[in-house]
Amino acid sequence: MSLLEVKNLKVHFPVKPGLFSRVRESVKAVDGVSFSIAPGETLGLVGESGCGKSTLGRAILRLVQPTAGEIFLDGENITHMSGAELRGRRRKFQMIFQDPFSSLNPRMTVEDIVGEALDIHQLTDSQSARKKRIAELLEAVGLDPVYAQRYPHEFSGGQRQRIGIARALAVEPEIIICDEPVSALDVSVQAQIINLLRDLQQQRGLAYLFIAHDLAVVEHISRRVMVMYLGKIVETADAKTLIREPQHPYTQALISAVPEVDPDSKRQRIILPGEVPSPIHPPDGCPFHPRCPIAETKCRTEIPQWREVSKNHFAACHLAGKEIEARN
Ligand code: SF4
Repeated sequence: MSLLEVKNLKVHFPVKPGLFSRVRESVKAVDGVSFSIAPGETLGLVGESGCGKSTLGRAILRLVQPTAGEIFLDGENITHMSGAELRGRRRKFQMIFQDPFSSLNPRMTVEDIVGEALDIHQLTDSQSARKKRIAELLEAVGLDPVYAQRYPHEFSGGQRQRIGIARALAVEPEIIICDEPVSALDVSVQAQIINLLRDLQQQRGLAYLFIAHDLAVVEHISRRVMVMYLGKIVETADAKTLIREPQHPYTQALISAVPEVDPDSKRQRIILPGEVPSPIHPPDGCPFHPRCPIAETKCRTEIPQWREVSKNHFAACHLAGKEIEARN
């Protein structure tokens, strides 16, 4: 059974009508997304900034209210839960944020930051047990417990992200939504944090939804990858297949931007024209057609169906599976 199942999830934010307009419009940040994650699995989610990735992560955690669709955790529908009922389920899923500095209260010591989650869920029954548990959590993420009385500003970016991970682990979650957890870090530190997340996954059987704009980072940690564009998933496959045989021209463009180690590689960078269109007025037909290097006439009017182009490899493109070759 799936640990997390998301069905046709939509998050539309209403936009205030203009002075002379009565039309109620909305930003379609997430627009009909479905997927599932098995226990212990890492599912990568990649796309440009503003494509709806972080909103999707927040909606799953119910930090923003979905407009439509359903979220199941361990088979239980949590879409409309609230109050104590939702708080009880929150133990199972946690989030790690992009900017560890702004997500940590600068006036709290590391001990209090990590201990807060233990207190909320009453997970220790004495001060000594609390201290011992905090020390265990800090050691688990590679931090020396002697620093427990220090404040976030006394740590480096990588160490602060480790504190954020320790805080997430405190409640023994089953799944962690990792929202661009390494984007703000130096490349060498990125590798350390990804290795730490991998080790923790093996030790604790954790599942991750790993969100990033950098496909190279996502590929590194994920078994399966979803590609998101303008609030919709446009392609999903296991990580290796997606990199080797991308079917959607948007995925091809993302892959072409990943630096290659092989100096003889003939891969050419695909530069997409224009900006991501407004999610208030997404284009008709295929939402990618204004930027697609191989768009055909029907792409402007017909929405491409989500279909399986090869085993467990899905894409929403009229030409997927037809040996498409993106051109500059
Ligand atoms: Fe490009 Fe058409 Fe495929 Fe959309 S459906 S990605 S516009 S080829």
